[in-house]
Amino acid sequence: MKLRLKLLLGTVGLLALVLGICAAVLISASFDAMMDSQRASALRTWNSVRTTIEVVGASGSGTDSADLQRALRAMENGGRALWDGVELMEGERRVYGAGVDPEAAESQAGSCLITAFRRGETHYLQLSGTVSAGGRELELRLVSDITAVYEARAAQLSVFRRLLLAALVIGAAGSWLMATLLTRPLAKLGRASRKLAAGDLSSRADVKSGDELETLAREFNAMADELETSMGKMRDFVDRQTAFMGSFAHELKTPMTSIIGYSDLLRRSTLTEEEAREAANYIFSESRRLEALSLKLQDLILLKKEDFELTPTEPRALLSGVVRVMRPVLTRTGVTLRYRAGEGRCLLEPDLVKSLLINLVDNARKAMDNGGAIFILAELTEEGCHFSVTDNGRGIPEADLARITEAFYRVDKSRSRAQGGVGLGLALCDEIARLHHGSLTVRSVLGRGTVITAELKGGRA
Ligand code: ATP
Ligand code: MG
Repeated sequence: MKLRLKLLLGTVGLLALVLGICAAVLISASFDAMMDSQRASALRTWNSVRTTIEVVGASGSGTDSADLQRALRAMENGGRALWDGVELMEGERRVYGAGVDPEAAESQAGSCLITAFRRGETHYLQLSGTVSAGGRELELRLVSDITAVYEARAAQLSVFRRLLLAALVIGAAGSWLMATLLTRPLAKLGRASRKLAAGDLSSRADVKSGDELETLAREFNAMADELETSMGKMRDFVDRQTAFMGSFAHELKTPMTSIIGYSDLLRRSTLTEEEAREAANYIFSESRRLEALSLKLQDLILLKKEDFELTPTEPRALLSGVVRVMRPVLTRTGVTLRYRAGEGRCLLEPDLVKSLLINLVDNARKAMDNGGAIFILAELTEEGCHFSVTDNGRGIPEADLARITEAFYRVDKSRSRAQGGVGLGLALCDEIARLHHGSLTVRSVLGRGTVITAELKGGRA
């Protein structure tokens, strides 16, 4: 059952019950009061008739009923009748009057018995009791028509029924209106949540009722915001994963095609010694690239999984280690390497940061054709430390800057491949910076050089 209908039925039921009880109490109290007044008035009449009979009886012969009959007739004819029926009995003998209910006419000696009875649509009150008149014991019965009291009660009931009907109609309309106002925000919330469940993540409930329902709607909207953000992130993640898998498959395909082609050539044809060496060289270099690819991929996967511990490290010591590893390769290609490091220690994972710097220096080296200069700067900051690697190599076109840290993204694919690159170096560096709560920024001028900065925010020691 709908809330609106429940509210309506509840209100109407409650209204009917309360009004019914109130009306029953009021009408019954009013009826009792009218009956009491009728009884008191009838009793006064009975007492005055009794007194008359006693006086007439005492003054008369005592056996003659004519005086009594005269007196009673005079009372009946003297203006308005005080009763609607009278009967004066002496034992079984009727002295005066008729038409009184014999069953309701039981009397009690010395006192007056009041009984109510009904004849068809007419209601009566009967008073009966014994009267002594000049030594005679007489039974006086008076009947009074009290139908008016019952008619008044019926009229009150009829007015009440009409009032109740009007109250119920007004109450029903009012409760329907109130229920509509109350349930409108709920309907809005319902519509919004149905849309959300159907996949419309932008669906929100616009409720401005200034009550608990508005708070509920605000909480619903906050939940929907959260859901939309999480779903957006999840979709991005899935897109990135799909792109990654596509690139990975592509990266595998090229060396595999070379390896299969050259090994087939070795297998089928009779090659000269020179040609066979060349084929073997291709197979070797492509296999090395596959190996490098799988190693870097493994590193990347490990980085995403593992929880690393940051330790207090001196950037200066770290840089001298990197320089020691890289200098022989750089010297061979005519590249100079200098570095400067600030004093102090910061929190980082030394092996990972070393790997990051080696990757950056290796990229800088590969960006130079005929010698050049690389400069590494380590600075301590409030949040940790910055490492920047500057080179005066060929630089990176502006259009490529935003995508340079994506896995397998390379500016010049064939050049990178020829230099043994697989396009995962900067993706690794970015992941390492992220593990240090930081990020990687790339600034470059084509033909002039590049500065890549890793902002690490692991903290200071
Ligand atoms: P890998 O590092 O996996 O062996 P890679 O060096 O080609 O291969 P990344 O280190 O991810 O891959 O670099 C991506 C691309 O960014 C490089 O191929 C190169 O085109 C460009 N790049 C990176 N660093 C520089 C730089 N200092 N100067 C110019 N180009 C750069
Ligand atoms: Mg690289």
